[in-house]
This record gives sequence, structure tokens and C-alpha cells, in this order.
Amino acid sequence: MKSIIFIAPPAAGKGTQSSMVAKKYNIPHISTGDLLREAAKEKSERGEYISNQMQTGGLVRDDVTTELLIERLQKDDCNNGYILDGFPRNVEQAKIYDDILAKLNKDLGIVILLDLDFDTAMKRSVGRLNCPKCGKIYNSMYDNMKPQVEGICDDCHSILSQRADDTYETFKKRYQTYLDLTIPLLDFYESKGNLYRVDSSKDKDKVFKTIVEILEK
Ligand code: AMP
Repeated sequence: MKSIIFIAPPAAGKGTQSSMVAKKYNIPHISTGDLLREAAKEKSERGEYISNQMQTGGLVRDDVTTELLIERLQKDDCNNGYILDGFPRNVEQAKIYDDILAKLNKDLGIVILLDLDFDTAMKRSVGRLNCPKCGKIYNSMYDNMKPQVEGICDDCHSILSQRADDTYETFKKRYQTYLDLTIPLLDFYESKGNLYRVDSSKDKDKVFKTIVEILEK
């Protein structure tokens, strides 16, 4: 299986699609956001720094992020391909990633852009709620995704929670960071001939079908 990099603005479904692809092809889903969220819990200067950056919507320093990533990519479950979600996020990181791949003797694989406009991404992000107990996802901005009782999980009746970085202000900053830093990555991968674009405004099963077609081409 080829490795896959997902590039996307916030709330374009990167996490959801990564999980679906990981399940279908039995390869690990590596999210730098998740690696960083875990490291942010450490009671250390590094943990505090990561936590602050994430809460304000800025990027975490490359040396911190790549250290966590290299550690993860060296695990055995990455030998038959993996999904990279959230890395690289800028051209600098893409160049660092090329070096990491060369050192670990791995191929780049394919790069998939999950394309989504600002307004749709904003509604998906700012309205996003999840159940901390059973994991069910809701969205307060879409009638067909609202919980029956505001703030309460339909299935297990737990109190729903919002990700700390899903506020409007943080969303705006994250989207702007994506436009400024991540969009230039598309040229970088287009020139290597590895880039595929997928319209991520469609429902998640349609997006998934398109991704599978690309992977099996
Ligand atoms: P995500 O879960 O991918 O939306 O990432 C959440 C946050 O983690 C981002 O807003 C950044 O603060 C941080 N982050 C995730 N991936 C990276 C990366 N590749 N480089 C720097 N910061 C990152």
C-alpha cells in the first residue's frame, strides 16, 4: 500500500477520511494534531508550549513536531504504508519530510487535497460537538446533525464537548494559516506529480469513494 498524505483546511474531514482509509486498508493513521495533543499533556516546558500554540491556532515549531513524527514513523506498523494527517503543513516541513523519508528509506506515496471553502469549513468547525463517552459527532449548525436535546448525546446522554480550538476566532486563524502556509505546498507536490484534488464539500461517503478510486487507479 502506498503512503498517503492528506492536505486540507481545518474541518474538511481529514480525520474522518483518514480513519476510513486506515480501516479499509489496515494501515496506521498518524495525525500530528493527535501526537501534539498527547504531548501537550506533559507537565513540561515543551508540553506547555505545545498547548499554548494549539489553543491559539498557530503552528507548533518544526523541530518539536518532526521529533514526534520521526519517533512514530519508526514503529513497525508503518512498514506497509500509513496515512499522514496534518503533516507537512508548509513547504519547509515538506522538505524536512523528504529528508526523513530518505533516511528511513520510505517512498512519498500520494498526496490528496481535501478541498473546502471558508464558509463550509467554518460551519463544520465552529458547530462541531462530540460525545466524550461514545465518540458520536454532532454539529449545531446543521439541522440534520444537531442532537435532539441541546448539548446532550442522543445515544448515551453524556454532555457533549467542543474541541478547544473550534472557536470562531481560532478557526479564522487556522484557516488563514492554511491559506498562507499550506496552499503553497500544493505547487510543491503538483510539480512532483503526486497531487490529487478531491471536493470535500460532498458527504463523507462520496468523498471516501473518490479517494478509494484514486488509491486503486
Ligand atoms: P489538527 O488536529 O491537524 O487540526 O491540528 C491541530 C493543531 O495542532 C494545529 O492547529 C497546530 O497548532 C498543531 N499542528 C498539527 N500538525 C502540525 C504540524 N504539522 N506543524 C505544526 N503544528 C501542527
